[in-house]
Amino acid sequence: MRKNYFCCADCNNSAVFCVIIFSQYNNSMTPEQTANPNPAQEPDFKYLVDEFADLKVMRYRIPGWDTLTLRQKEYLYCLGEAAKYGRDIIFDQNFKYNLLVRKTLEAILKTYSGDRQCADFQDFVVYAKRVFFSNGIHHHYGEGKFLPDVPKEYFANLIDNSDVSQLLDGKSVAEFKEFVLPIIFDKDLYPMRRSSEQGSDNVTGSSVNFYQGVSQAEAEAYYAQFYNPDDDKPLSYGLNSRLVKADGKLSEEVYRIGGMYGNALSKIVFWLRKANAAAENSTQRHYTDLLIKYYSTGDLHVWDEYNIAWVEDNTSFIDFVNGFIETYTDPLGIKATWEAVVDYKDREATRRTNLISSNAQWFEDHSPVDPRFKKKECKGVSAKAIIVTTLAGDCFPTPPIGINLPNADWIRKEHGSKSVTITNLIDAYNKAAKESPNSVLKEFAYTQDEVDLCKTYGDLTDVLHTDLHECLGHGSGQLLPTTNPNALKEYASTLEEARADLFGLYYLADQKLIDLGILPDDQAFKAEYSGFIRNGLMTQLTRIELGDKVTESHMQDRKLIAQWCFEQGRTDNVIGRVSKDGKTYFVINDYQKLRTLFGRLLAEIQRIKSEGDYAAGKAMVETYGVKIDLDLHKEVLERYKALNLKPYGGFLNPEIVPVEQSGKVVDYRVEYPTDFLQQHLLYGEKYSTLGIEN
Ligand SMILES: [Zn+2]
Repeated sequence: MRKNYFCCADCNNSAVFCVIIFSQYNNSMTPEQTANPNPAQEPDFKYLVDEFADLKVMRYRIPGWDTLTLRQKEYLYCLGEAAKYGRDIIFDQNFKYNLLVRKTLEAILKTYSGDRQCADFQDFVVYAKRVFFSNGIHHHYGEGKFLPDVPKEYFANLIDNSDVSQLLDGKSVAEFKEFVLPIIFDKDLYPMRRSSEQGSDNVTGSSVNFYQGVSQAEAEAYYAQFYNPDDDKPLSYGLNSRLVKADGKLSEEVYRIGGMYGNALSKIVFWLRKANAAAENSTQRHYTDLLIKYYSTGDLHVWDEYNIAWVEDNTSFIDFVNGFIETYTDPLGIKATWEAVVDYKDREATRRTNLISSNAQWFEDHSPVDPRFKKKECKGVSAKAIIVTTLAGDCFPTPPIGINLPNADWIRKEHGSKSVTITNLIDAYNKAAKESPNSVLKEFAYTQDEVDLCKTYGDLTDVLHTDLHECLGHGSGQLLPTTNPNALKEYASTLEEARADLFGLYYLADQKLIDLGILPDDQAFKAEYSGFIRNGLMTQLTRIELGDKVTESHMQDRKLIAQWCFEQGRTDNVIGRVSKDGKTYFVINDYQKLRTLFGRLLAEIQRIKSEGDYAAGKAMVETYGVKIDLDLHKEVLERYKALNLKPYGGFLNPEIVPVEQSGKVVDYRVEYPTDFLQQHLLYGEKYSTLGIEN
C-alpha cells in the first residue's frame, strides 16, 4: 500500500495503522487565527454537507491560506487548474463509456423540462451523484456496477425530455437510448470495474479501459518481454498506455500530447507552464519541465528522471503530484490511473513535532520507568505533514490521508521517497464524524460532559497522542545489554505499540505540555483518556466479527491497556462500568489515578521489553488484549449497526478564485462550496477536455 486511507472516522479511532497523523488549527493557540480572520475558521463551518447511498460528502479547509504570499497563492492556483483539467481522464480510464454516461446525466440535470420534485427524479439525482462520486458507473471501492433506483422507462423519458443533441453523434434519439440504457441498466453488462476472480480472465472480465481486444494471457506475455532480471533500473513498462489488439497485432496507445488523452494533457501542460512562472525556485521549475516533457513525449525514461528530481526536493514549501501513478485499478497492476494533489507544508504540525522531539531527553528522563531501562541519549523524530489545496483524478473525491511516492522500487532505494500525512483531510474526517446526527461518540459516551470534552479537545489530543506515540514513544527506553531483541516473539509488536501508546497517554496529562504551549489547559488530556478507554473496551470492537478475538496488534494494544487499567483500578473504582437503559458504558471516575495506572503499566511493559520477559509479555497480552466478552461485543455491534453510518467519505474541493482589480489579479480568495452536484456540473462545463469515446 502506497497510500493510507482513512478507516474509521471517529474520536480516537484514527491511528488504525502506525501512520503518523496530524491535524491542526483546532484550538485557540495559533496566533495567526486572530491576526488573520479567515472565512475558513468560522465556528459554524459545516464539514459534512451531503449523504446519499453508502456515501457521505465533506468539505476540507485550507488553514493558513491568508498567510501565503500572492505569488504562492498564484502558484497553488495554477497547479490546481493543472489538476482539475485531468478530470475526464479518470472517467475514461475507469470505463470507456463513463464519459458518455456522465455527459448524458449532465444533459438531463441541466435541460430536463419535466417535474424535478417527484421521487423518481430525486432518485435519478442520487444515481447521478453516485456516478460523480465514483468517477464512473462502478463503485469506487467495491468495484461492482450500481444501478439507478428508477425504472428504465422513466430514464428513457428523462432523455426524451432533455437536450442530448450534443451526444448523438449521428444517431437518432431512439438509437442513442438503445445504446446507452443497457450500459446503465443491464447488470450483466460490464458488471465489474476491476475483476479479481480466481481462475478467470481478469482482463476481459474487467471494464477498465486499459486493454482493448486483449486477453489476460496476451497482455501478460506482452509485458513479460520487457522483463530483464539484470536491469537494476527497470522502466515502468506499460504504465501510461492502453494495450490494443488490432488485425492480430498488439500495440500501445500512449498517453501523451498528440496521442491518447492528448487534449487533456495539453490543458494540463498549459497550466503547468503558467505555474512554473510563479514557482518558488529552480528545482520546482526543473522537475515541472521534466513532467511537461514526459506529457509531451510519453517517454518513461523522462518519467523516471522527473521522479528523481521531484523526490530529491525536500525544501520547497509548495509541492504537487500530477501524473499516471497508482496501478490498483488495473487487474494486472501495470497501468496507472491519473491523479493530482496540490499541497503545501503544514507549518503548525511541523512546529509541534519539532518542539516535542527537541525535548525528547526531558521526556525520557522523567518517564516512570526504571532508570536502568531508560536511554541515556534520546533523539526524537520529527514528522512531515501537508495541507492539500486541490484534489483531482483518482484522488478526488475520495483521497488518501497519506502519500508515499514515487512507486518505482529502484528509485525509492537509490533516491528515497516522500512520505507525508495530509492533516487538513484528517481534520475534516474527524470534524465531520462529530457533526453526524448519529455519532459513535454520542452513542458510547456516558455523559454529555464526555461528549463536550471530546468535541472541545478531542482533535488536538488525538493528534498529540499520535505525535507522542510516534516521535517519542517508539524511540524511548533501552534493552539490557544481555537481552535478545527478539525475545518477545509473537507478542513483540502488540507490546511495542502498547509501550508507545502508554508513553503518550502518560505525558498527555503532564504540565510539561502546557508549559511548552502544546496543550491549552489541564482539562484537555481528559478527552483522550475517556476516548481511549471507550475505544479500547468498546468502540473498536465494531470492526471485529462477533465471536472473533482481537488479533491486530494496535487493537490488542488498546484493549490490553484499557482492560488492565479497568481491572487494576477496580478497588478504587477508577473506571466504572455502568448500565443505563440496557446499555453499557465505561466512565472514568478518577483521571489522576488513571494516569498513575498508565505510568505503572508503562513501567511494567518497559521492564518486559528491556529484560525480554517472554512469559510475562505473553500473560499480559493473552489476559488483557485478546479475549472479548461475548455479550458486550454483541451489544456494541447492535448499537453500532443502529447508527446506520455511511462507510465511505469523499470531499468537495474548495474553489481558489482570482480577485481582479483593474484587470490585474491582486489576490486569490478561497471559497468553500456546499453543493456536491453543483461542483461536479461546474467541473463538467469548465474542465471537459475529452470526447465521448477515446
Ligand atoms: Zn506505533
